[in-house]
Amino acid sequence: MPCSADDVMRVLSLVPRALWRDLRRVVFRTPTPRECPVDACVWDGTIAINAVRIDEERDVSGAHAQVVRRAGGSVARGVATFDRGVARAFMLYHVLLHEIGHFVEGSDETRAEGFALDWEHRLRRAGAIPFACVWSMPARQGPTRRHGWRERIAGRAFAGLTAAPGGDAS
Ligand SMILES: [Zn+2]
Repeated sequence: MPCSADDVMRVLSLVPRALWRDLRRVVFRTPTPRECPVDACVWDGTIAINAVRIDEERDVSGAHAQVVRRAGGSVARGVATFDRGVARAFMLYHVLLHEIGHFVEGSDETRAEGFALDWEHRLRRAGAIPFACVWSMPARQGPTRRHGWRERIAGRAFAGLTAAPGGDAS
């Protein structure tokens, strides 16, 4: 996985909890080849963050090219190489925020994307991101029948989170 469970908790702690109160769990998983190749998806109170291939080139365009550059990556002719650091920043500071955006904006992709870009800018302005990789909470791990190894962040872990400094929802 490009990011840790604690990294995810840290990002959640930076966004007012009222915006993601319906979130019950975040799951890291490796999708099967048959599943659509997206970075993450959201359903039924769950955000699933998918494994991404490291050191692989991927097509990025428009706002995503800018996200990759802010993540420390370079984009040439619409192609970026996702090393570990770029993948981590892209997943944490964009994809995760996009999925949180679905809890606020519903299924509208444009609005969820706008939410992600808006919150990335806010958190960068506040100096809250980027932050160094956090590994403190041992994630529950185990092989699952369909998805191989994954980590799960249990819903109870959210209980201690409160809105962070600068996490003003206005
Ligand atoms: Zn979406």
